[in-house]
Formats: sequence, structure tokens, C-alpha cells
Amino acid sequence: MLQRIYGVAFEAEEELERHLEKLAEAERRDHRRLGKELDLFSFHDEAGPGLVHWHPKGALVRRIIEDFWIQEHIKRGYEIIYTPHIAKLELWKTSGHWELYREHLYSPMDVEGQEYLVKPMNCPAHILIYKTRLRSYRELPLRWAELGTVYRYERSGVLHGLTRVRGFTQDDAHIFCRPDQLEDEVVAVMELALFMMGSFGFEEYEVLLSTRPERYAGTIEIWDEATETLKRALHRLRLPYRIDPGEGVFYGPKIDIRLRDALGRAWQGPTVQVDFNLPQRFEVNYIAADGAEHQVVMIHRTVLGSMERFFGCLIEHYGGAFPVWLAPVQAMIIPIADRHLDYALQVEAELKAAGLRAQVDARPERMNLKIRQAQLQKVPYMLILGDKEVGAATVSVRLRGGQDLGAQTLEGFKAMATEAMEARRP
Ligand SMILES: [Zn+2]
Repeated sequence: MLQRIYGVAFEAEEELERHLEKLAEAERRDHRRLGKELDLFSFHDEAGPGLVHWHPKGALVRRIIEDFWIQEHIKRGYEIIYTPHIAKLELWKTSGHWELYREHLYSPMDVEGQEYLVKPMNCPAHILIYKTRLRSYRELPLRWAELGTVYRYERSGVLHGLTRVRGFTQDDAHIFCRPDQLEDEVVAVMELALFMMGSFGFEEYEVLLSTRPERYAGTIEIWDEATETLKRALHRLRLPYRIDPGEGVFYGPKIDIRLRDALGRAWQGPTVQVDFNLPQRFEVNYIAADGAEHQVVMIHRTVLGSMERFFGCLIEHYGGAFPVWLAPVQAMIIPIADRHLDYALQVEAELKAAGLRAQVDARPERMNLKIRQAQLQKVPYMLILGDKEVGAATVSVRLRGGQDLGAQTLEGFKAMATEAMEARRP
């Protein structure tokens, strides 16, 4: 009996220790702290709270993510569009945002006697493009994607780093399709979402299907049918999911993916929403095979959420040590003495020509200090160059974790770094 009590007590203590360790690790990985230390982004009182300023290194990571995102969308039949940041208040009245979403909207601004709003969402703009001409059932589905920057009011008290902000860029897309295409489209969106999550190193997630809330647009029949369609899509993908009863948005059911990061914490991830409301409000139709106009089914979806929140999540997931393909500086070249500088510049030029992001630390500091600083900057590779390396035309490679890989030919290093980059490995 005593033994058992001791056993339990020990376990609890261990658990407490693990818990404290986890808290300390979360503190070390806090994206607000790493954002400063790694020179990625900042906020400014002069500009206003909740407004992110992306520094060159943060912007570079974002650009790599965006380029990857665009390429993967084009591969899957999406087309990229751009829409304005402001639109007349009338448009937001038609969409229902003015009536239903007012607390998140900024006050209208006057432009030549007309009231305009800074956009909280991209959807109405995509609809305007859709409606520039009659669409036939044959050209559906249309998949239009935009990295669209939106502004939503949040109380200053709830703002938090990159995860709760007032201006953010959604990796948005709208799919206009026929009812008979909905299931395939949802399957394709989910496949894309899971592919993207895997590419960024998220292996654990939870899938939630949110059903009809108390207040809803459309009819119960339409809701039931769409909810069944989402279920069929999830079954086809063999994805286990949990039902979140009544948690759908008022305009349609949705599927959410909740990610788990390296510390096991949950983050809001991809979302797919079916919308019965906007197509009706804007009369978004197509000419069907029977020659009559039918209402399209509209899907709203993001796979990353927003660039800001996703970047915050990535920073914490990796603890700032981005995998090689995302690292703003992939190789820091460290000449031991001034006489090695020429060779260092030559190595830098060759790595850049091979598409690698390399930089020479030419400061007259001690080698150990330069290595330490490159490690703190979480640079994946450090290339140390001294007499031996210059003589043999090699580079001595160290990893940010402290591992020493020794001397390698420049070709050998290029091949290794390129391989890690292409495989999107750490
Ligand atoms: Zn939308």
C-alpha cells in the first residue's frame, strides 16, 4: 500500500517537472520574443497596435511560404487574383457584413461623398469578378485564390503578438461550383490542406465538423445535404473527425483542422466552409444544362489561416530554428582571419549561384563568438574557413545544434544543403 502511494507521488512529481519544463520551453519559443531576437518583425506605438511590420528576414520567410503556396495552388487548378483594400459601404451592406459583423469593422471613410470601408474579407470582391459575365455549368468549378490583406477591429486588450492582430493576410480562396461538384472539391481542399500541413512539419491534428447553429441562413434541407456531403468527403479521405454540434457559421457547415505543435499545443489551422448565404445575397448563378439559372455553391477556405498567425505558429513549432528551406540565412560563412576573406567571398558567390542563401561574417571578431552568434540566429549551417580549408579548397561544416561534420568539398556541401532544402527537412 505504502509503495503504491510512493509510486503515485513520484509520478506526480515527475509530471509536475515535465509541466514546468514545458512552460519554460514555451517561454523560450514564444514568437514575440524570438521575433525580436531573430529580427523577424515588430509592432510600433507610432503606427498603432496589432499592425505587423515585417523585417527583411521575416519577410523573406513569408515570401518563400507565399511562393510555395502559389505554386501548389496553381498545380491544383487554382487561379490567382488580386482585389482592392477598400470598397463602398453599400457592398458590405449587400454582403450582410455591415449588419452581422459590425463590431469587427472599422468606421467608414468618406471619399467624394461616398462611404467606403477597409475590407474585413475578400469574398465580395471575388463575387464581383465572378459576376462580370454569365457563367456556364461547363466552366465550373472556378477556384480563385488571393493572398488578401484584411483589417478587422479587435480590442487592444485581446491583441497578442502575431496570433491576434488588426491587419492580416489571409491565404484565401473561393471555389464556385455546382452542387454535384461539392464533394470532390471538399476532398481536394482537404488533401491540399493536409499536404501543406505536412510540408511545414505538422504531423498531428484534429478534424472537426461543425454543424448547423441556432441562427442560420438557408433551409434545413440544404444544411443537411451539405453536412452529409462534408461527411462523405471525410469518409473518402479516411479522416477520423469529431462533430462540433451547432458550431457552424450561420451561412453553412464547415470543417476545421486543429494543429498540434511540437509542444502539443493546439493551433487553429485550415478551414473549409460551405456558404449558402452570399450566393443568394449577390445572386451568384450559373446557366445549367437545362438552360436555366441556378445558384452556385460557394466554398470559402484557407489552408494556413493567415500569414501572420501561421508565421507565429511556425516560429513556436520550430523554436525559431526553421528548416533549411525556410531559413532566412542557410549558411553563415566564417573566415578565421582576414587572409581567408577572399576565399570566403568566393564560397559565398558559389553558394548563391547554386540558389543557397549564404552570408559572410567578415567582422574582425573571434571565430568562437561568430559561431555562437550564428547559432543564436539559428542558422542551419556554419562554414568555417581557415588555412587548411583554403589550401584544400574545402569548407568545415558545423550544424546549429553543435554537431561538427568536418571538412567537405564545396560541391559536397552544396549537394547536402540543396537536398535538405528540396526535401523540406530540418
Ligand atoms: Zn470568403
